[in-house]
Order: sequence, then structure tokens, then C-alpha cells
Amino acid sequence: MSDKYEFWNPEIETKPIDELKELQLKRLKKLIKYVYKRNRYYHEKLRNNNIKPDDIKALKDIEKLPFLTKQDLREYYPFGLVCTSLDDIVEVHASSGTTGKPVVGPYTKNDSELWGEVMARSLWANGLRKQDILQNSYGYGLFTGAHGFEKGAQKIGAMVITISSGNTKRQIDIMKDFGTTALACTPSYSLYIAEVAEENGLDPQKDFKLRLGLFGAESWSNEMRKNIEKRWGITAHEHYGLTEIIGPGVVSECKEKKLHINADHFLPEIIDPKTGETLEPGEEGELVFTTLTKEAFPAIRFRTRDLASLSEETCECGRTLPIQSRIKGRSDDMMKIKGVIVFPSQIESALIQVKGISDNYQIIKTKKGEITTLSVEVEPTEERFKEGHLEELEEKAEEEIYSILNLHVPVKVIPPKTIPRSTGKAKRIIER
Ligand SMILES: [Zn+2]
Repeated sequence: MSDKYEFWNPEIETKPIDELKELQLKRLKKLIKYVYKRNRYYHEKLRNNNIKPDDIKALKDIEKLPFLTKQDLREYYPFGLVCTSLDDIVEVHASSGTTGKPVVGPYTKNDSELWGEVMARSLWANGLRKQDILQNSYGYGLFTGAHGFEKGAQKIGAMVITISSGNTKRQIDIMKDFGTTALACTPSYSLYIAEVAEENGLDPQKDFKLRLGLFGAESWSNEMRKNIEKRWGITAHEHYGLTEIIGPGVVSECKEKKLHINADHFLPEIIDPKTGETLEPGEEGELVFTTLTKEAFPAIRFRTRDLASLSEETCECGRTLPIQSRIKGRSDDMMKIKGVIVFPSQIESALIQVKGISDNYQIIKTKKGEITTLSVEVEPTEERFKEGHLEELEEKAEEEIYSILNLHVPVKVIPPKTIPRSTGKAKRIIER
């Protein structure tokens, strides 16, 4: 058994799986009674499906409950799903709402404390400690990201630099002057910060005290993770969360780089996205979450549209909390090209295999009538660009993509620093 100091909450994080399931069932029963009594939408939805709270006798009975979808959230915007009095809400966040109304996340005092607790668990698992200095370069605003990291890090007792995103030169000055040891932002922004540091004559590995990267809000391949770790000389950890569930803090990535779900609060399921049927551990499908303990806005069987699989295998780290695979992609990002299913992350993995190619790329999606085609634009490294013969690089990249997808995708190498950089989520797919 590992040192107790490894865990933020040893009792929960190493609870035998049977006991965890007992706790989940107890909480699920209570939750269904709670929403049935407190919220008109949930009450009607359960009644229309002929379900009474007493029908929940085993965890498996969750499958009788209807799903909660993004459309439901839009329909009940902004506060229709709230189960407390509005007076009890002390904090509210929202997603960007790029398609239609934003998703609103209201929190009671207890919800907000729960958020701090699961984020502390998650950051502790990453190795963040009291003596760390966390540069919080997620954008502060309605978005949950920055706030979740701040709560969790402060609970641990670390120093939080609330710099928000943007003004990259200033990020570098502060990082150097304050002695930042942990950087929280999107993975692509961390690479942009490294690029600007180098332009200013600094060595990301030698001129900073950075040792931890806490990255999320964007899907990134394992290859990209290795590149970032090498570039900065740090350990990079994945964070995963959703406004509908709580924000970041849904999972804790351990030293083995396994994503342990904080399943005492967030009950996961994997379903077939087409039929809605529940899938077995190990099978890949759509991730669905039920918040077991939230008060203001409990989500019951929320369909995330993220594709992953679940496992209850034991982990070297000693945690017993179930593990979710890294997100393969949002089902929204999935493209079907000439009958082949393509995820942007697969193209990223292929490109990174090619020596001389940088981490900056864009996938161009062109629609002509019913037919969608893909092409890729990618920047080489500065050194490789100077060597010339870029068509060789294009050929190699096309071969790598073909070997992964069995699909010919034309690649164009464009001069370094032509793809716009982002201080938040990188725009990887361009529709033309
Ligand atoms: Zn683990």
C-alpha cells in the first residue's frame, strides 16, 4: 500500500469497489427522491416514464431513467433545472454557448465546496502541494476552468497567480519572476508560451522553475503530451470536466496517468450513442454522468457526447476509483470521410510522428454538396523550414496519416508562424 500522503482523501480514493457501489446506490436513491420532489421538469420526466423514486433498488436501475441532453438544458435555460431556491445559489458559471444558448451551472455553497474538494483531490493526485506556485492561465470569466483550479489549489494551500489567459509576454515575465512551478491552461497555449519564451531568448527547460503542467479544455493526443513534457521539461497532466457536471474535477489523473473518476460524486456509464443501451466495461461508447451529491443543479444521466471506455481494473497508484480512458473525441468532432471515421486527434498523432513538423496544424474540412473532404496545413519547425525540400515533409506526413486512417489526406506545409495562435482552445478544424 502506498504512503497515505499520496491521497488527498484516502478513505474514498482507496475504498473497496463494493463499498463504493453501496455508497453510490445510497446517494442515487436519495438523489432521485430529491429531484422528484423539488423540480417540476424532473418530476414530469420521471412520471412520463412511469418511474417512482422507490423503483430505484439497485445501481442497475439507473438504466430505467431517461437521459438528460443538451437540448433539455437549452429548453430550461437558465434556471429551469434548479432544485433549490434561487436564494441558495452563491455562484454561477456558463459555457461559451457557441451553438445556441450557453449551458448554465449554478452552485449552492455546498456545491462550491464540493468542487473545491474534487479539484483538490485531482491536483493532489497530479503532485501539487502547498509549496507550489500555480500560474492559473485559464481565462477567468463565466467559464468554469480557472475558478475550479483556483478553488482546488487554494484548498491544498498552494499559491495561486490569478493571471487569466492572454498577454503572453507578461505570462513569461510573471512565470520567471514569481518562480511558477505549475502552469494551468490549455495544452496548446502552453506550447505558445514556450514559443514566445524562446523568441525572447529564454530556454523553457532552464530559465523557469516549472515542473507541472495542468492541462485541459481541449483534446490532445499522447504524442502532444510527450512533446509538451519535453519542451518544458515537466510532467503534464490531463484534466477533464464539464459545466453540466461541475466543471473541472470530474477525474483525478494519477502518476500512472490514469484518469480516476471521482465516482463517489459522479456516477459514470458508457452507452451506445445510437441505441442508448448500456455497454460493458472496456467497450467504447458515449460517456454519461449522474451527479450524486450536487444540490442546485443535479444532472441525471447527462449525455456528454464524449467517446471513451470505463474500467474497474486496479491501478498501480493504489486508487480504487474507476478509470475512464482518455477522450477519443467528441462525437460532434467525428467526421466521416469516404466512409472512414476520422477524429482530429488521430491526425494529430500521425503528424507528430514526422520529424521536422511542429505542433501547429489545422485540419481543413471542405464540403461540396454531399461530399466532405479533408486536407491538412501544418507548420514545420524553423530549422526544418530553412532546409527546404518541404514536399518531402508533406509526403511523409501523408504516409503517416494513411498508415493510421487508411485514407489519403493531402498535407500542405506552410511557413512557420502562419497559423493563428490561441490563448485558449486552439481552433484545429476550419470549415471551408
Ligand atoms: Zn492510478
